[in-house]
Amino acid sequence: MGRETALARTEAIYERIRRIVPRAEWIGFADDVDAILRLKRERNAVILAHNYQTPEIFHGVADLVGDSLALARMARDTEAEVIVMAGVHFMAETAKLLNPDRTVLIPDMEAGCSLADSITPADIRALRAAHPGLPVVTYVNTSAAVKAESDICCTSGNARAVVESLGVPRVIMLPDEYLARNIAAETDVEIVTWPGHCEVHERFTPAEVRELREAYPGVVVLAHPECPPDVVAEADFSGSTAGMSAYVATHKPPRLVLLTECSMSDNVALGHPDLDFIRPCNLCPHMKRITLGNIRRALEENRHEVTIETGLAAPARRAVERMLAVA
Ligand code: SF4
Repeated sequence: MGRETALARTEAIYERIRRIVPRAEWIGFADDVDAILRLKRERNAVILAHNYQTPEIFHGVADLVGDSLALARMARDTEAEVIVMAGVHFMAETAKLLNPDRTVLIPDMEAGCSLADSITPADIRALRAAHPGLPVVTYVNTSAAVKAESDICCTSGNARAVVESLGVPRVIMLPDEYLARNIAAETDVEIVTWPGHCEVHERFTPAEVRELREAYPGVVVLAHPECPPDVVAEADFSGSTAGMSAYVATHKPPRLVLLTECSMSDNVALGHPDLDFIRPCNLCPHMKRITLGNIRRALEENRHEVTIETGLAAPARRAVERMLAVA
């Protein structure tokens, strides 16, 4: 009876994603979706979901969706008392930095990121010592402790604007080596890099792009700038997840492939039923730790609350706010 009621109450949501999610799967999701919708009302909570979340989260329970930059702005501006981050840990930390009076929850504390794990505050201090006077531009995919050592943050959506806003000929940009090299190719600013990589995007290869073009004639290839530069060079367009969404909405390529995390393709494809999305699938295991079940438990049990060490909050917030003032 409870399941049937939940199914009836969530039918309108299911209609939006039925092209991607089979009915049999939705039957397993409906009870959690129904409970999450109720808990959000009871707790005055919002769910912020990254573009890499699965469709039942992204289209089923999220209030606000987007890339890291959009999520940071939404987190700063929300009036809700509780923010549930359906994303990875550094995103929840960024939300807490920008809206410290809110309760920020992450459904799984182990939802990490290979880029965030690739660098420590001590590494930044060593880089500064090796390159005295150079400003440090830090990708938001880092811990609050690393942000606190930085001059300014950036996302893949605003990295070039941030680098150029500094008005200097040389900067340190970390930890994503490929993002830094891809931005260096677009600007006259010289960039000192760090050997961090996204474990999802580094798996794409130029040979794979060529094979896709051969197998799917006319395919338009969109690549995330966390992909290696030789992959980006083979693509027709490179941009952040928001940039790729905007490209699809504007250009409507009849056949396309997004070289990024595979749920992103599912989520964009739902808005464009007339386009033929080719979907090679590279999953982010960290993003996939977030499920409807642990979002529900996060709201029921108020877990896991994200906090920032007192001494780190002010300098880390300054680096993020400086970025938001640029973009
Ligand atoms: S997709 Fe890459 S950059 Fe994004 S959270 Fe996963 S490991 Fe980190």
